Amino acid sequence: MISYAGIIMEFATVSDIDRPFTYSIPDKLKETLKIGQRVKVPFGKGNRLKIGYVVSLLESIEPQKYRLKEIKEVVDEEPLLNEEQLEIIHFIVEYYGTSYASAIDVVLPPGLKDEPIAKNPSTIKMVCLNQDMLKVKIYYEANRHKQSFEKQRWIIDYLREHAKEELKAFERLEEVSKSSLKTLIQKQIVEVIEEEMIHQKDVIKYETFKVLNEGQQAAVDYLKALSEADVYRPVLLQGVTGSGKTEVFLHAIKEILEKGGSALVLVPEIALTSQTLSRFKERFGNQVALTHSRMTPKERQRLYMQAKDGEVSIIIGPRSAIFMPLPNLKLIVIDEAHDSSYKSEVEPKYHAIEVAKARMKYNKGQVLLATATPSIETYYEMKEGRYDLLRLDTRVGEAKLPEVEIVDMRLELANGNNSVLSQKLYMEIEETLKQDKQIMLLINRRGHSTFINCRSCGYVLKCEHCDVSMTYHSSTRSLQCHYCGKTLGVPEVCPECGSKHIRFFGSGTEKVEAFINERFGEYGVGRMDTDTTTGKEGHRKILEAFRRKEMHILIGTQMIAKGHDFPEVTLVGILSADSSLYMQDFRSNERTYQLLTQAMGRAGRGEDKGKVIIQTYNPDHLVMDVVRHNKQEFFYEQELMNRQMMSYPPYSNIFSVLIMGIDEGEVIRVTHLLSQYFRYYSEKGQNHFRVIGPSSAVVSKIGDEYRWRLFILGEVRDKLLIYGRFCLNKFYTHEIVNGIKIQWDINPLAMV
Ligand code: ADP
Ligand code: ZN
Ligand code: ZN
Repeated sequence: MISYAGIIMEFATVSDIDRPFTYSIPDKLKETLKIGQRVKVPFGKGNRLKIGYVVSLLESIEPQKYRLKEIKEVVDEEPLLNEEQLEIIHFIVEYYGTSYASAIDVVLPPGLKDEPIAKNPSTIKMVCLNQDMLKVKIYYEANRHKQSFEKQRWIIDYLREHAKEELKAFERLEEVSKSSLKTLIQKQIVEVIEEEMIHQKDVIKYETFKVLNEGQQAAVDYLKALSEADVYRPVLLQGVTGSGKTEVFLHAIKEILEKGGSALVLVPEIALTSQTLSRFKERFGNQVALTHSRMTPKERQRLYMQAKDGEVSIIIGPRSAIFMPLPNLKLIVIDEAHDSSYKSEVEPKYHAIEVAKARMKYNKGQVLLATATPSIETYYEMKEGRYDLLRLDTRVGEAKLPEVEIVDMRLELANGNNSVLSQKLYMEIEETLKQDKQIMLLINRRGHSTFINCRSCGYVLKCEHCDVSMTYHSSTRSLQCHYCGKTLGVPEVCPECGSKHIRFFGSGTEKVEAFINERFGEYGVGRMDTDTTTGKEGHRKILEAFRRKEMHILIGTQMIAKGHDFPEVTLVGILSADSSLYMQDFRSNERTYQLLTQAMGRAGRGEDKGKVIIQTYNPDHLVMDVVRHNKQEFFYEQELMNRQMMSYPPYSNIFSVLIMGIDEGEVIRVTHLLSQYFRYYSEKGQNHFRVIGPSSAVVSKIGDEYRWRLFILGEVRDKLLIYGRFCLNKFYTHEIVNGIKIQWDINPLAMV
């Protein structure tokens, strides 16, 4: 007989109550209580009723010192969490060292109250005319000559023609006056009736699927074979931009649906455009649902329940959609899989790819990572045989990869041109406008760091001990290395060639826009960056205006590089390819490579061949050479070698600690003290870890809070995680710190 339940409290983010508590089950619930259900239980000294989740059911327990408390009531009739979700919650707790409460929180939709979750209504309200036609007719005749009847007349005429209409949709019609409708309902001329909602799934529209080319077909066949074998497998779909990757996973999803399975598709939030959605809608109709950041908590809860009840088969969404509880989930597609938005920066700091793998392991399905530029980690997993590889090497149809030209900006300067555009790019813009084609200009302004750059010789000031550039800190007016802590004053002249043309690098989108507007304003110039796109609408509007060719030139940050398909764009200019190269991060080569490749992917997607012009002060840099000659494999091999030499990921794991506080001195003191703990337990223990720091964070102060950093590198992830948390616990036990926040993460994507 089941008599006891293990219960995790919903609010228990504090570690000492972050464990299951045993409660006894009252007789009335003994037969019906299920794992995954929400319950109300008395908690703590005051026995206030709190919400908890049933995570285990037990027949007997060890003898207890105290009398067990009883579960008071259940909240939802059906369990909110199923077995798979409980597995995933365990996985998150273990893998990210987070609390049960925050793992449960991320798996469930937001905004749950202590009442049953919002469900989709089972009935729907419809409006129609009163069946008594005579009554309607008399009313109509009596009023038809009155001027004020106009709006009512419209409603009656409409309903005569359309028989009945969903109330909500009807109210939204522009011609419908709500007050007139109300009057008609009061006079019983119009009736509101409730009808049973029949959920009928649309059928797949086969005629909308493109005939695949050979490469695409091979990829789809491979995925089909995996799915038939019913085995878990991650697959990397590496294809150049425009090679038809989306078409491949649309077909793969079709195969899954035909067998009664379901699929999740993750896309970066920024790529969640109507264009993406309509490609799915036209094929799968109402079997597809979308999640996005603008949904209200209620809408999310409804979608969650719809997914759980199997009313939809495909969900598209950003990172958080990874937790959608689709039954019989057999495929998770992660589009633009290299995108850093898939890693959460707030508790629990999960990576969607890792969660996807855990889910598919459980469901014996496939994870498909689609990208033109895999992350180094993904490439490494593939090389090691843990991911399968599918490649698409050519663009679909006639579209060719664009021609790439590198412009040496040092020469421009030597020739007296110190504007943001090189001679070459200027001429190409003129030429492109003459042909009535469109242009994208990309300003690579990633990260907050600035570096010192000599405009005469291209020299970038680097740390003498590390292969990274020194970062300018405006607060102290000095240069710092974030890896070894070395500090320098700002030089007056270039240490390499003595030129005075040394400056902090970086030119903003606004400056460029002004410049372009002055010269090409008549062709229409748009700008897209975080400043112009507050609110998702702004973002969409600019892109749509560009699509309609209301403007010929679009200027933007990396935002414009992602995924958009504008067939009329034949020229892409990258104004400052360098600024992410010298970011304070071992991933800067990788990021620059990805960004340039993605940006190049915007050119020449239509019939006309595209052209890409990359302006740089470092034409000889490895990354420039790689993109010009399309030496992708060479790049990955080089980059892996560098990482191995420096023992950075994927050859190690990083435990990063961020120490924050208003009092700078205290922040520094705590950081040093903490680093001693890490060093002490590394030396004392069997496993050795490399402690880097203390150093101030790249963004050394945010909102009056100073930020300092420690990084600890270790070979084995699990061991590093255990050690890192152990050291932090020891520190908290022995030290008293006031007004200091300490956050940590394992394998963060950014080292800022
Ligand atoms: P990717 O996702 O690799 O960038 P897409 O799937 O978006 O590529 O394909 C690029 C363009 O080619 C799209 O407009 C798409 O509709 C078209 N396309 C893809 N596959 C085919 C095909 N087999 N036949 C015809 N057109 C295709
Ligand atoms: Zn110089
Ligand atoms: Zn250094």
